Amino acid sequence: MERNHTIMQFFEWHTPADGNHWKRLKELAPQLKANGLDSVWLPPVTKGQSAQDNGYGVYDHYDLGEFDQKGTIKTKYGSKEELLDAIQVCHENEISVYIDVVMNHLAGADETETFQVVEVDPMDRNKEISEPFEIEGWTKFNYENRHGKYSDFKWNYSHFSGTDYDQKNDRKGIFRIVGENKHWNENVDNEFGNFDYLMYADIDYNHPDVKKEMVSWGKWLADTTGCDGYRLDAIKHINHDFIKEFATELMAHRGENFYFVGEFWNPQLAACQKYLDHVEFKIDLFDVALHYKLHEASIKGRNFDLTTIFDNTLVKTHPLNAVTFVDNHDSQPDESLESWVEDWFKPSAYALILLRKDGYPCVFYGDFFGIGGDHPITGKKDALTPLLYARQEKAYGEQDDYFDHPNTIGWVRRGVPEIAHSGCAVVISNGEDGEKRMLIGKERAGQTWHDITRSRKEQITIGKDGYGVFPVTGGSVSVWAESE
Ligand code: CA
Repeated sequence: MERNHTIMQFFEWHTPADGNHWKRLKELAPQLKANGLDSVWLPPVTKGQSAQDNGYGVYDHYDLGEFDQKGTIKTKYGSKEELLDAIQVCHENEISVYIDVVMNHLAGADETETFQVVEVDPMDRNKEISEPFEIEGWTKFNYENRHGKYSDFKWNYSHFSGTDYDQKNDRKGIFRIVGENKHWNENVDNEFGNFDYLMYADIDYNHPDVKKEMVSWGKWLADTTGCDGYRLDAIKHINHDFIKEFATELMAHRGENFYFVGEFWNPQLAACQKYLDHVEFKIDLFDVALHYKLHEASIKGRNFDLTTIFDNTLVKTHPLNAVTFVDNHDSQPDESLESWVEDWFKPSAYALILLRKDGYPCVFYGDFFGIGGDHPITGKKDALTPLLYARQEKAYGEQDDYFDHPNTIGWVRRGVPEIAHSGCAVVISNGEDGEKRMLIGKERAGQTWHDITRSRKEQITIGKDGYGVFPVTGGSVSVWAESE
């Protein structure tokens, strides 16, 4: 029978800009696999606007660390050769590779151009606050050091819908580029009226040449790297019709199993549901709503009602399309979407995504290996390893929930005959020490179970009636499983 699958987001915001990250991946791949992590989400592999850029300020989609551009051959994470090498080693270790693709904008243009814009109200981008006028914008991308290799497409202002800086007057604003067939993209998030524009030079998916070029790039990237799927960045700012087209084209080209997970960062569950409908469920979405619930639970402590933890989450309403996660490179402290799940609750949060039936969980590099930068956070590998082990060996079979007390919840996975000694009983407390009486099954009467997190040292015997009474220490999680 197929084992549970788990993603690791293989970077954090402060991953050192030493050009050695693909080498780290290559070295760690066997260890990841041994920990039950059998797919990785890589940061953007394309050349950013500098050697330090984490990849979201994408400069050249066709430069994977191969050309001397922006003062560097390598990207922040390494060279193209090192990337391909790391992917090969991942595949040898049966780890799938999902690459982060940034298609909303381009950064670090080679030259300025003069063109017509209207300035819009940042709070309502449908509202024009100027007459058309000329700016000098950074929108010309020539890629001279690439010499047209892989693609001779050269970007200019006609391929963008907006920008935020006028060089001529050294002035910032949100400038919508005007011209024939020029308007903000439809089918984007409606915050600020129309949230097509996020940052840098915003790629215009109304333009047929642009759509063609980006689909062609998507195929080239998958063919070149042999990756198994994409993590789609910032999709609430991109015409949803294009994303549907992109996914459809890629699956036709690479096979139906080519995988997509989209970053649609909207805590409103209804918005995510609408998005999935729009793209006809061709892609999965990160469960942002669940992330915020986990964050809230970690802040409120015992004042949070744990029985509501999955209310209004994507994993509850769309279990087959939800990628569950605890934190990521944007939610970590000091970053743009800071909403860090507090340390004390982290193991419980991971138990909630790793040990249940639903969702495709993603473990954050920063949680496992730690976070660097000015305010470092120690990795929680020791706390997470037993949970990953439980996911790999124990968390199978029917799931019975005991969400019956605001401060202590539990659930049982009944196990499956194909995996010996599988099954587990999970108890989480955000208040006092507690316990939960839960049905394991009469056929397992007399077995002794232990807590594989080692938080509790006692052995629990399953009673004749098939029930066990499983304790948990206040403010923690225990995962009980059959002692072998
Ligand atoms: Ca956009």
